[in-house]
Amino acid sequence: MKTKRPQARQSKQGFTLKKVVGAMALMLGFVIGLFYVCYVYFKDVEVQRAENRIVLYQSTLVEALERYQHLPFILAQDPLLRRGLNGFEIDVVNSRLEDFAFRSRLDAIYLMNTEGLTIAASNYASEQTFLGQNYNFRPYFQDAMDERRGEFFAIGATTSQPGYFIAEAVRDENGNPVGVLALKLDLTPLTEAWRAGGEAVFVANSDGVIVLSSDNSWRYQTLGALTDVRRNAIAAERQFGSEPLAPLDWVNRDNGIVDIDGTAFLHVVTAIPRLGWTLHFLADESRVRERALLVVVFVTIVAFVLLALVGYLRSRRLKVALLASQLARRNLVTVNTKLEEEIAERRATEARLERARSELARAGKLAALGQLAASVTHELGQPISAMRNYLTASEFESDAGAARLAKRLTGIVSRMENITKQLRFFAGPGKENVEEFDLRRVLDGALELVRHDLKHQGIEFEFSKPHKPVVIMGNRQQLEQVLVNLIRNAVSAMETSDVRKLVVEVSKSETTATLKVLDTGIGLGGRSIETLQEPFHTTKPSGEGMGLGLAISTAIVNEHKGTLSVVDFSGVESGTRVGVEFIVELPLAHEREDS
Ligand code: ADP
Repeated sequence: MKTKRPQARQSKQGFTLKKVVGAMALMLGFVIGLFYVCYVYFKDVEVQRAENRIVLYQSTLVEALERYQHLPFILAQDPLLRRGLNGFEIDVVNSRLEDFAFRSRLDAIYLMNTEGLTIAASNYASEQTFLGQNYNFRPYFQDAMDERRGEFFAIGATTSQPGYFIAEAVRDENGNPVGVLALKLDLTPLTEAWRAGGEAVFVANSDGVIVLSSDNSWRYQTLGALTDVRRNAIAAERQFGSEPLAPLDWVNRDNGIVDIDGTAFLHVVTAIPRLGWTLHFLADESRVRERALLVVVFVTIVAFVLLALVGYLRSRRLKVALLASQLARRNLVTVNTKLEEEIAERRATEARLERARSELARAGKLAALGQLAASVTHELGQPISAMRNYLTASEFESDAGAARLAKRLTGIVSRMENITKQLRFFAGPGKENVEEFDLRRVLDGALELVRHDLKHQGIEFEFSKPHKPVVIMGNRQQLEQVLVNLIRNAVSAMETSDVRKLVVEVSKSETTATLKVLDTGIGLGGRSIETLQEPFHTTKPSGEGMGLGLAISTAIVNEHKGTLSVVDFSGVESGTRVGVEFIVELPLAHEREDS
């Protein structure tokens, strides 16, 4: 049983720990699952939004590129340009082109001859004028000369400013190209607007070079490595000036997410078919994570609040139940205590009853004995006296045989007298002799009676008493009888002892007078005082003792409101101390008066 209990506690603790770990794992699983679901949901929402946004960007870009598509063709119809190409009125052409550029808010409009040499330009007056520059290396010039509309995005060879170029051939009356009219559109305001919108957008050309971007640092970087052939072709067209065209630090993660310079973005792409460009819209992925996290935190807080509420309600219920059980327990304890008290009372009553019963029995025996004693004393008193007188008379006779007989008879008679003396106590209450007296006189009286016997039997004896009187109230003769009885018992007990010593002591305390009789006899052999006090309990041979001495002594002491007790040293190994000590305690006379 003892070893099972800690095991049970251990397994219970283990079970609780497992439950806690299980609950925590479940909660963690729930939180991760919830985060994943929210993440997927908010990503979808964000992708949807990005797709809407990219359509908007696409339309503004296409619109910006489309707006001037037909302008070079229209302007090329102007006969002034043909005259200019033939070397006339160049100044007029210059100012006409300047006027056109100003009105249509174009970067530049310029006219090239068939060699690609710029002969007139809207910026003829500016420091970085295109006048005199040869642009025959540009694809848009070549396309226009081949009777196609030329379109091209490049960094300006003269101004170093990026721009979108559109070119159209200027034809003579026969429709043959005699020159090329080109315009340059500055797309910087568009990208400025993107940047101002706070969103990340860029456009890559067919080579994967970023040509427009809301973030200037990404511009002219490549989405993939360029082949040497393409790199050489770009250099020949001087499309991107001296830009190194380094690859952009980006990783495409396949799940619609790209990392650029270590930042994750949701990535949506759409095509700009006109130039073979691609438009890229980037939405910050951290927004998705933040939203998902926010929902998780909110749900977790709500869950915790609910849990706390449930816990609180549960603990309140438990508390109420506990209080009820405590009350029930208290009631039970009260009932139990009452029951225990009742049991104890019952036991005490039983013990009292038992005591009363035994006292009654003893009193009954003593009462019977009293009657017996009265009759025996009455019956024996007269004949004994007559016998004594008779025997005394016969002692004077000379016959030796008769004398011996007389001696034997005297012995028998004294024994009979002894018996009657003891029985005399029962014959009358003896209350008429009650007086105040000194207990030391009882000692002296008893000593007178037994001194001769003690000396005769060779018993060493020691009597001690205080100097001051020990006054008690009672019957002196009866107490003398008690003391003589105790001394005679002590003498009998020492019959077979090697050391034979008797100590009798009278002493007093504040309220009590004490009488002690100590011997070196054989001891009580384990018998209690109650046993010894039983009438007719004796170890002496028939005729020598009737077992009445202590019964009578107890009755006398009780009548004096005192106690008779005994200490048996025979079983105690304390040096030479053997034998027993009878102790009689009596109230002092003034004490009795007080009470
Ligand atoms: P009795 O002396 O006639 O036997 P008591 O009532 O005086 O009757 O004593 C009863 C018994 O108690 C004695 O027989 C004896 O066995 C025992 N007793 C009394 N006093 C002593 C004592 N001092 N030492 C040992 N035994 C004693």
